[in-house]
Amino acid sequence: MIVSMRADASDEETERVLALLRGDGYELHAIRDAGPMAIGINGKPVDADLRVMLCDLPGVSHVHQSKVPYKLASRAVRPGGTIVKVGLAEFGGSKPVIIAGPCAVESRDQVLRTAEQVRESGGVMLRGGAFKPRSSPYSFQGLGQDGLEILAEARARTGLSVVTEVLEPEQVELVAEFSDMLQIGSRNMMNVPLLRRAATSGKPILLKRGFASTIEEWLLSAEYILAEGNDQVVLCERGIRSFDPATRFTLDLNAVPLVKELTHLPIIVDPSHGTGRRELVASMSMAAIAAGAHGLILEVHDDPDNALCDGPQSITADALAEIVTRCAAISSLLSPLATLVA
Ligand code: PEP
Ligand code: MN
Repeated sequence: MIVSMRADASDEETERVLALLRGDGYELHAIRDAGPMAIGINGKPVDADLRVMLCDLPGVSHVHQSKVPYKLASRAVRPGGTIVKVGLAEFGGSKPVIIAGPCAVESRDQVLRTAEQVRESGGVMLRGGAFKPRSSPYSFQGLGQDGLEILAEARARTGLSVVTEVLEPEQVELVAEFSDMLQIGSRNMMNVPLLRRAATSGKPILLKRGFASTIEEWLLSAEYILAEGNDQVVLCERGIRSFDPATRFTLDLNAVPLVKELTHLPIIVDPSHGTGRRELVASMSMAAIAAGAHGLILEVHDDPDNALCDGPQSITADALAEIVTRCAAISSLLSPLATLVA
C-alpha cells in the first residue's frame, strides 16, 4: 500500500505517519526529493481500520493499494508527475530537455569544443562516456578518470550539467564526484547491486531501457532506485532489439505515452542508439517530442567518420541546432493539447 502525502504536509505531519507505521512493525520505503513524499508500506497486510486512520491524518493526500508491482514508481503515487532537476534542466516540465555530446570522451579538445557547440545549439546538458560498455573487449573502452576530469572541465567552462555512465557499483563514488547525473546503461538496467549503489549516491539517475527488457521490467528497475529513497529518476527509451537489422535497434515510441500513463517519472528518448543511423536521428527526435517525450539524448561528433565509438549514429553540431529548433516548435504546439487532455 502507498500513502501519498500532500505537497504542503509539514515535517511533523509526515513524521506522525511514519511513526505510526513504524510502531506497527511495517517495512517502509519513502521518496520525497523530487515531489511530495510517498511512503510504500510492505511486510504485512494493512487492515481496514489502519487504512481509515491513515486517511484521516493531517497531511495525508491519499492512500491506495497498488495494483502494479512497481509501487513507488506507479503513476498513482504522484498523479501530477515528478520533476527531476539537474542544474538548469528540468525533466518532466513542459520544455524538452536536450542532452547532447559524444558517445565517448576521446580527448580534451574534442569535449571542450563539442560542449561549446552543444551550449550554442540550445542543449542544456552534456553527455559523454568515460567508462564505455563496449560489445567487444578489443574496442575503445573509454578514458576512465581522465575522461571524467575532462567532462568536469567542460562543465566549468560552459555551465552545462554532465551526465555520464557508471558501469560498476565500485565506480559510483568516483563518477558521482565528477558528474551531475549518473547514467545506467541498457546493458546494466538489471544490475541490481549497481542500481542500489547508484541510488544511494544521492545523484539523479538516467535509467536507460534494457534493449531486451519489457516496460514492466524497466519500471521495476526504477523501483529499486526509488525503494532506496532516491526519486530523481529519468527513464530513457533507447530502442529495443527486433528481427530487422535494417536499423541498429527499433525505437519503441509506444513506450513514451504508455510510460507516462504508468509512472510519474519523466521519460526521454535516445534516437541515436534507437536508430544507429545519423540520417534518421532528426526525424525520430521530432517524433519522440511529438509523442510527448520530456527530452532527448543525442550523440554529436565533429568528425563522425573517425569517431572512436558510434560514429555512424553521431550527428554534427549544425544538425543538433536544427533539431533543437524544430523540437522546440513541436513542443510549443503540444502544450495546449496536453492541458486539454489532462
Ligand atoms: C551510450 O549512451 O553511449 C550507451 C552505451 O547507451 P546504451 O546503454 O543505451 O547502449
Ligand atoms: Mn553510444
